[in-house]
Amino acid sequence: MSFRDKLRGRMPIPSWLHSVQHDMPFLFCTVCDGRLATRGLFTIMKSYRGEECVFEMAICARCSGAEMEKWSTASRKAARAFRETRIQFEGCDGCQTCGADLEAVRGMAVHAHCRSDQMLAVSHMCTSCEEALHQCLSPKTREENDRFMKTHFPQPPWMYESPCPEPVQVAGPPLS
Ligand SMILES: [Zn+2]
Ligand SMILES: [Zn+2]
Repeated sequence: MSFRDKLRGRMPIPSWLHSVQHDMPFLFCTVCDGRLATRGLFTIMKSYRGEECVFEMAICARCSGAEMEKWSTASRKAARAFRETRIQFEGCDGCQTCGADLEAVRGMAVHAHCRSDQMLAVSHMCTSCEEALHQCLSPKTREENDRFMKTHFPQPPWMYESPCPEPVQVAGPPLS
């Protein structure tokens, strides 16, 4: 399956949204280790460089809500405004924010909103637009994001590092 095909949302949760590290569907929240099947909504996040998945995690709604509460009000507002005003290519195969074609971008972040074994919605944003979103956040919120990444992913994915680092392994906690 091409990467372009992968980005077309379909249900149930497609195999490309399974954990690459564990070669099976995500079963547990990366943050709290809670069983996703019992946690209602959850989000699978993956980042690609070309067709290679370089980062993956699954986070339950409770944990993502708790993390969002650590953001400043200004950052939450800025992130919402960014999504509401700049995401304008809903149906497109490439970046939903700038419309760039997949082949033309450095990388792509995919967020899939799921419940149980069903994928409800999927969105994708190129690395440049992710960086633009990051720039909208307050320094305190950016620090909080860095702390979150360092806590859960001691080896950070490439897009959080310098522009052209070596590839890193997919990070994630061991299944318990
Ligand atoms: Zn959780
Ligand atoms: Zn973009």
